[in-house]
Amino acid sequence: MAAKHLLIIGPPGSGKGTQAVRVAEELGIKHLSTGDILREAVKEETELGLKAKSFMEQGALVPDELMLELIATELDKLDGKGWILDGYPRTLPQAEALEKMLDERGESIDKVLLIDVDPEVIVKRLTSRRVCPSCNAVYNLETLKPKVEGKCDRCGAELIIRPDDTEETVRNRLKVYEEQTAPVVEFYRNKGNLVPVKGEGSIEEITAEILRVLE
Ligand code: AMP
Repeated sequence: MAAKHLLIIGPPGSGKGTQAVRVAEELGIKHLSTGDILREAVKEETELGLKAKSFMEQGALVPDELMLELIATELDKLDGKGWILDGYPRTLPQAEALEKMLDERGESIDKVLLIDVDPEVIVKRLTSRRVCPSCNAVYNLETLKPKVEGKCDRCGAELIIRPDDTEETVRNRLKVYEEQTAPVVEFYRNKGNLVPVKGEGSIEEITAEILRVLE
């Protein structure tokens, strides 16, 4: 049987969000994206959203205390279902806190997918990314154009550029990834459940490779 408790880690723009949605659908598990949850909170101007907004706009990480609260609430909602966590953990304290929370629930992580992409490919990809603010669908002007320019294929809403997809912010997010998230990758490599996947190629090819390594 395929793994049911997964993490997907990769630099911003590695395609981890796109792949997480597809893998969740294939395996019938829940996709949980901390970036999507935070963007929704910012849009709704909830207490969490108001606290997170300025960090996100600068491409910085939202403080660990806020993230721990968020992830604990989300795990509670899952109620024993399988899941793929996308965008969490991003720091060593987050990884350690997750281990503790899962232990308490009698759960553990089956596999940690690491999506590898060259940083310059990422800058190009992210500055061409367009997203749907309504249903969170993701497009790319180079590789995955919407059928009608500027409109979401799924729900017809006007597509936008994410405020943290400008070149300067993208470079900052890559730096943050190297400094704070690379140690998380080492943490899971040492535990022995890291599975690297090359994140260059078509979306379908990468999904097929992920499903193959999960078998
Ligand atoms: P993403 O969509 O995963 O690239 O996340 C967008 C932004 O949300 C990040 O640049 C951070 O500001 C924030 N964020 C998402 N997940 C986390 C996390 N686990 N820890 C801290 N900040 C996060």
